[in-house]
Amino acid sequence: MPKNRIYLCLAHMSEAGLEQKFIQEAFDTNWVVPLGPNVNGFEADLEQFVGEDKRVVALSSGTAAVHLALIACDVQPGDEVIVQNFTFCASSHPITYLGAKPIFVDSEKDSWNIDPELMEEAIKDRIAKTGKKPKAIVPVALYGMPYDIDRIMEIANRYDIPVIEDAAEGFGSRWKGQVLGTFGQYGVLSFNGNKMITTSGGGALVCPDKEAWQKIMWLATQAREAYPYYQHEAIGYNYRMSNICAGIGRGQMTIVNDHINHHKHVFELYKELLKDVKGIEVHGNPDERYDANFWLNTITIDPEIRIKGQENAYKTVVQGAVGGAAGVVHATDSAHTDCEPNDNVEALRVYLDERGIEARPLWKPMHKQPVYQRVESSELRVESLSDGIVCQTSDMSVAYINGVSEELFKIGMCLPSGPYVSDEDVKYIVTRM
Ligand SMILES: *Cc1c(COP(=O)(O)O)cnc(C)c1O
Repeated sequence: MPKNRIYLCLAHMSEAGLEQKFIQEAFDTNWVVPLGPNVNGFEADLEQFVGEDKRVVALSSGTAAVHLALIACDVQPGDEVIVQNFTFCASSHPITYLGAKPIFVDSEKDSWNIDPELMEEAIKDRIAKTGKKPKAIVPVALYGMPYDIDRIMEIANRYDIPVIEDAAEGFGSRWKGQVLGTFGQYGVLSFNGNKMITTSGGGALVCPDKEAWQKIMWLATQAREAYPYYQHEAIGYNYRMSNICAGIGRGQMTIVNDHINHHKHVFELYKELLKDVKGIEVHGNPDERYDANFWLNTITIDPEIRIKGQENAYKTVVQGAVGGAAGVVHATDSAHTDCEPNDNVEALRVYLDERGIEARPLWKPMHKQPVYQRVESSELRVESLSDGIVCQTSDMSVAYINGVSEELFKIGMCLPSGPYVSDEDVKYIVTRM
């Protein structure tokens, strides 16, 4: 990727070039396959990093990790799974892959993550309406911020529902000193190109014990039985990480703490430099239990603040998809949707973009995504529950909404935070705001 711009979070290799050394070893020993010494070594590094006696399976993506965790929690067609509404689609799409339904739960104001009280209300309402408990609960460490895992676990345990932590953005974030991904039954990690560390593409599932680890390993390698020929008694997946990617991962594990410290340092700089800028607030840890990795630093912008060029916001149609994803062929002919960031947020994004700075809106809440609002025969149903809570039901999902994620989406923005973002860059960015 070119470096003449300041990006949100670009992949960054170790100074010692250890990634290439591990890859070279894979070639030299002819381990160019989805298993081998680098995969085992990377898993051992990850187990040491997360601690708590967990076992880890390295996989081809974080999305695959979510998918396998749901299968391990016995999610079947027609089941329901609670998932944070304010998230990236990889938290919820695998629920749909399984023919199950995401039950989106909105966020609390401080952490921006799943609201535990609303989550319990959703569980009760699902039991009342369907007679069945949701099969799993998926909280998400959005932008690396921890969720209130004490309250989530207390409620989940009371209803005996397993928790799958989506810590894809929160690798190395901690709650009361303990690494995220180690509290629930399963923990999802991602090593996509833009995450805290990368294997170019990849992920991992943190498992509670050897038995669960074996089952995930078996599912990730096409569920093969122990015969001299291919014998299949269950449907499996080709989700194991390649030995080449794992070589990059082993190199990255030598600098993971440097990366985390750098992201935290960039957060401190933004906080300090923006503290006197009226109308802009930097999102920080709500209290001392939270220890975010600040994978992406985020701000909110007062709707009253006027930004230069605001009158022209949304006048041009964006070319290509956000994130520059390969293979995106869906062009749009309108610059607007029914739920979008405020004009001043879009104006600031364009202004920064023109000055070589990549900024991005916050993730659009799932209950506002057309794919999850789809209805065939009737209307999208919106029902009012207690104090300002609404329940939105479509063919694809159900959502328990308190307004927090939609409000944040309208006023929020992600700023460059990765290993290439220097102190000078942060000062440059801030003086442009
Ligand atoms: C990145 C991400 C994932 C996993 O994504 P992959 O790109 O498949 O590794 C899952 N959940 C969230 C919230 C993410 O941001």
